Formats: sequence, structure tokens, C-alpha cells
Amino acid sequence: MSRTPGPWYAKGTPKDGWFINDRDDRLGHNVLYGLPDATLEANAHLAAAAPELLAELKEKLCGVECACCFRARIAIAKAEGRALKATT
Ligand SMILES: [Zn+2]
Repeated sequence: MSRTPGPWYAKGTPKDGWFINDRDDRLGHNVLYGLPDATLEANAHLAAAAPELLAELKEKLCGVECACCFRARIAIAKAEGRALKATT
């Protein structure tokens, strides 16, 4: 499984809706509708930051299977669409 390379950014207006685009303006994933505009915009910004958040989180992990990074490893596995093997 591979994803569109980042960075992504949020683009839109309350009238047109909110989209997640790649740097070449090609991605264009529409953010869910049916929510208040401010929520859609907030979701769009969060989703657009996902590639950078994932990269930063991966870089901050300890090099060993430690308890301090356990929740971060679960979040990374979720972001990558795979189940984390239980080690504890
Ligand atoms: Zn750690």
C-alpha cells in the first residue's frame, strides 16, 4: 500500500467545500460533508498535515521496542493501514 507523497494542504471555502490537495494540486480528496463549516475546515487542515505528522512521529521513535513509544507505534500502524503486532 502506498499513498500520495506529501506535503498535502487544505484548500477550500465554506461555499465550495474543503479538499486535501497534493503539492501539484492533483489529489483533491473532498473532506466529509454534513458537518459545520468550521469542523470541515479543521478536519481538512488536520488531514493535510498527516504526512508531515507521520514523518515527524516516526523520526521521534526510540530505536527499540519501548513502552514510551508504544502508543506512537499504534498510531503509526493505523496511519499505514496495518495492524500492530502485540508485543506486550
Ligand atoms: Zn520510546
